[in-house]
Amino acid sequence: MNMKFALVATAAFALTLGVTQAARAQAIDFSKVEVKTTDLGHKTYMMEGAGGNVTVAVGADGVIMVDGEFAQMHDKLKAAVAALTNQPIKYLINTHFHGDHSGDDENFAKDGVIVVAQENVKKRIAEGSTNGLTGNKTPGLSGGAVPSKTYTNGSLTLKVKGRSAKVGHVPNAHTDGDSYVWFADANVLSTGDVMTIGRYPNSDFANGGSINGMISAVGQYIAMTNAQTKVVPGHGSLTNQAGLKDYRAFLIAARDRIAKLIKAGKSEQEAVAAKPFADWDAKLGANDQASGNFVRVVYNSLKHSTMSTIH
Ligand SMILES: [Zn+2]
Repeated sequence: MNMKFALVATAAFALTLGVTQAARAQAIDFSKVEVKTTDLGHKTYMMEGAGGNVTVAVGADGVIMVDGEFAQMHDKLKAAVAALTNQPIKYLINTHFHGDHSGDDENFAKDGVIVVAQENVKKRIAEGSTNGLTGNKTPGLSGGAVPSKTYTNGSLTLKVKGRSAKVGHVPNAHTDGDSYVWFADANVLSTGDVMTIGRYPNSDFANGGSINGMISAVGQYIAMTNAQTKVVPGHGSLTNQAGLKDYRAFLIAARDRIAKLIKAGKSEQEAVAAKPFADWDAKLGANDQASGNFVRVVYNSLKHSTMSTIH
């Protein structure tokens, strides 16, 4: 298998899975963060600051934005968008509820931006959530911190003058509220954390995520893209359809390795101790905690999943 997708090690690695979003935010010196903007063509851009990747589509009378990072990034992201256009941001889409993607919702809502997400994102932000690995709780939020426009199944189309974005739901993948955003006119797909590059992904099993759902979702992404598509992952560098194919093969291999351990009667702890991802750890520069956490999320999502196995 081509492991190219996994070779870009970033500082994000230090922020291992299982750490609460608040702790992640505390570990970042936001004053030192600069937003890097990459032109994807057709007035569509990828932005990288602190938190999840951002996608920006500029129309003639407004902007559609995908994910808004942490609240502390608000002014810098706004300035980065203002450097591209005088038009206001009309929609901010949350690809899922995690704070490194949705933590800026309240600030944008205050600016008059309509925050859009799948219904379960609204539910988890409003009701609060528990991290399945650490047991840490994130309290519920209200007002502008909660998305104001939601959809349940299927998809939703958002429009600004000259641009449209298809926001589609993939069930039980990274979480139970994942949306991808498809800019057909620019041939750009934003995946949210269903796909991450340069670090182990996460199936947030305590919040409806599952490894089989991720495999299925990435299969859908491969079907909707072509060889020229630019793919913005939830974290890490810009990729493409070949990257999606490599990543899907990696997810299947990870799933199968853990399924084998479960079949052999191994407990979660025994599965972690077996270091089933040791070969990938070296390539990713992943430490024991990051590797063990990925073992644990795959193990738990398989153990508790009623979804059928996807090949
Ligand atoms: Zn996430």
